[in-house]
Amino acid sequence: MSLRPEEVIQKFRETGALLEGHFVLSSGLHSGVYLQCALVLQHPREAEALGRAIAETFQTENIQTAASPAIGGLIIGHEVARALGARFIWTERENGTMVLRRGFSVSTGERVLVVEDVVTTGGSTRETIAALQNYGANVIAAASIIDRSSGKADVGAPRIALATLDVPSVDPAVCEACKRGEPAIKPGSRKPN
Ligand SMILES: [Zn+2]
Repeated sequence: MSLRPEEVIQKFRETGALLEGHFVLSSGLHSGVYLQCALVLQHPREAEALGRAIAETFQTENIQTAASPAIGGLIIGHEVARALGARFIWTERENGTMVLRRGFSVSTGERVLVVEDVVTTGGSTRETIAALQNYGANVIAAASIIDRSSGKADVGAPRIALATLDVPSVDPAVCEACKRGEPAIKPGSRKPN
């Protein structure tokens, strides 16, 4: 790949998309790493480079369409599609179920690559793949910028990531930083001044 994992992580550090410390994640779990892909993807040039790096792996796969779960996958999925010369569509939740809306459709056997920003449990990727398969798509693979699952997430299709983060998220009851008395920060929400 044109971007080595260290270079990907470096982009995240430089843009504040990867913070190290003691954090409360939106899941309620505690972690030594906080990841906010939007902070690297707010820079179109970085988004384009990351999209191109993912696309390289699938250059010979004849991908017709890249598809992403909204909102997290939208920017990177679009960049991957651009680099592959493919179409880009997204799934979103309707009454809790991942569906295609806005007139989007796939044809039977259409070769689709599912793209996410980060895979943690693989849940939204798995749901997106299942939804597209229900519409008749041939889901070739799934890809993300970051794999937070240490390679363990099973999404029901072959999967690649540009970089893997091997940092556990733990229940506060067993958090080592909490035991040391370090305050946990809840990043990500900021009210206007
Ligand atoms: Zn903690």
